[in-house]
Parts: sequence; C-alpha cells; structure tokens
Amino acid sequence: MKTFRKELTFRTKTRRAYVNITSQVEASLAESGVREGLCLVNAMNITASVFINDNESGLHRDFERWLEKLAPEKPHSQYDHNGYEDNADAHLKRTVMGREVVVAITDGRLDFGTWEQIFYGEFDGMRDKRVLIKIIGE
Ligand code: ZN
Repeated sequence: MKTFRKELTFRTKTRRAYVNITSQVEASLAESGVREGLCLVNAMNITASVFINDNESGLHRDFERWLEKLAPEKPHSQYDHNGYEDNADAHLKRTVMGREVVVAITDGRLDFGTWEQIFYGEFDGMRDKRVLIKIIGE
C-alpha cells in the first residue's frame, strides 16, 4: 500500500473566504501515484473547514449569509469564548461546515459526484492556516 501526505498553507486576505482547492488536491493525487484508494482532506485549524459542494458564486454568498445568521461575528461580546479572542463565531461556523472530506480514488482520479468540488472555508483568516491531504491506496 502507498501512503502520501502533504500540507497546504492558506493566508486569506479577508476574515472569511471560500477557496476552491480541487486542482491542488488533484495535483497531490497525481504526485502520490495512487490509482485506487482514498483521499482525506482536512482543515488543521479549528476555525476553518474543508467541504464539498458546488462551485457557484451565488451559493457561496448564500453560505456566507446563512452562517452569519446562525453565528453572527458581531457583537464579539455575545460569546463566552471571546475573552482573549474574537473568533467564537469562526469556531461555530467551522463546526457547521465540517472538518474534512474523504473522496474515493478510482482509476487515478477523484471519484466525484455531479458538480462536486472541494473547498477550503476560512472563518478567521488573514493568518497562515494549514490543510492536510492524506492519500492511501495502491
Ligand atoms: Zn478561539
């Protein structure tokens, strides 16, 4: 069995952002040489997500509005977590949007469903954050 590990680093210009990372995951898969197996992609920070959905900008604005209704960033004082920090909303948004995705690898390709793409969801950006890619198979 082959194993492959790689970290990606992101530093978004805004506090919140949605970044399509599908091509970077595909490049890692090519680098791994795995033809049949599983590909895990997870955020390595508890205020960011990795999720799969449609690459459609209207949907991404909908995510932003929906998450801000569920867990508004401000006022910061509404959250118990915000003693020394101001990112309680980012922890909550990350929990809703998820930590990781697993994609099957078939014949050397990510075996996606219709319109599926992999996204990095940033909820407390403007600093270096990491994503782990782990690929196992043969
Ligand atoms: Zn925090």
